[in-house]
Amino acid sequence: ASVPQTKGKPRLLLMGQRRSGKSSISSVVFHKLPPSETLFLESTARIQKDSLNSFMEFQVWDFPGQIDIFDNPNFTFDIDAIFGEIGALIWVIDAQDDYLESVARLNSTILNLQRGYPHINIEVFIHKVDGLSDDYKLDIQRDVTIRIQDELSDQGIENAPVNFHLTSIYDHSIFEAFSKVIQKLIPRLGQLEAMLTNLCRTCRFEKAYLFDVNTKIYIATDNTPEDMASYEICSDYVDVIIDFTEVYGSPEWKRSDEWRARLEGPPWLQTLENQVACEFAESGMVLADAQRPIMLREVDRFLALVAIMKEGSYDKMPQINMNVDVVVKGLIEFFEITKTKTGIAAVGGGT
Ligand code: GDP
Repeated sequence: ASVPQTKGKPRLLLMGQRRSGKSSISSVVFHKLPPSETLFLESTARIQKDSLNSFMEFQVWDFPGQIDIFDNPNFTFDIDAIFGEIGALIWVIDAQDDYLESVARLNSTILNLQRGYPHINIEVFIHKVDGLSDDYKLDIQRDVTIRIQDELSDQGIENAPVNFHLTSIYDHSIFEAFSKVIQKLIPRLGQLEAMLTNLCRTCRFEKAYLFDVNTKIYIATDNTPEDMASYEICSDYVDVIIDFTEVYGSPEWKRSDEWRARLEGPPWLQTLENQVACEFAESGMVLADAQRPIMLREVDRFLALVAIMKEGSYDKMPQINMNVDVVVKGLIEFFEITKTKTGIAAVGGGT
């Protein structure tokens, strides 16, 4: 069975054994299914194509684990249609099960890919690590890494682009891992990071993220050290905003003077006296969760800038908003240029 081509769109491929968690991962990350409901998902028994409502049009192809696409007596797969355009192959390994067969299949897949498609990033998700102790997680990661690297170097392959992530759908680790995977597919990521780093410096933000709001994947962050807690706060905040407002359903992206006056004026400040104060506005908002105020500003239909501010930033809101405006303009330009240069559909919708 040959697989239809989708031209010009970066694709992610999700592969792994049956019951390793592929359907659960794509349902939780891309369709907001609550993790506990994955218990009722039917296991993948065929190739599923899934078009995403995201800032890039990723395709998650959910391959049934028992199919060997390189050597299958029943089907001839159009390998080029499958792998020709993908950016990354995500291989899901069930860490709570015996993973030797999965690792063996992964090894043969990597070897096959190295021949024709050496540029494809291989992202190994050592999955279902919830409930495992930290030591045990690291042991498994070490074991899997060694089994793969030994096999590759036996075959004379050095520096294959293979990366490992410990993941679970029951916490933020699956989103964090997807963020890493997707960031590698963004051309000129360094420029995005530099913009956010500058913004943090000028606005004295603790941390800033560029979020794909529908998936809660972050596309970029500033250069301060990785910090899971900050990511969790910001991504929960994105959830709150998306639940409470129709911001991202609206086709219009106007930012009125009236809105700005409200945001910067005294009435806005008064609301901060509440423990948790939310200012919902058409296209930008600030939430103060006790000490750590958070700012969200949409960039386009899919992307939002989310930053953790320092305590006492409120009197500087006018300057902060000015700086944020400049960066948002820069981001829009960035994705316009990236789009024309690479043919990647980076920005969509209302812009
Ligand atoms: P697939 O056959 O690869 O698509 O696997 P499924 O998505 O159907 O998942 C198989 C089972 O694993 C389901 O019962 C899921 O609830 C469970 N599962 C998926 N991800 C996780 C995880 O991160 N942790 C745990 N504990 N179970 C998971």
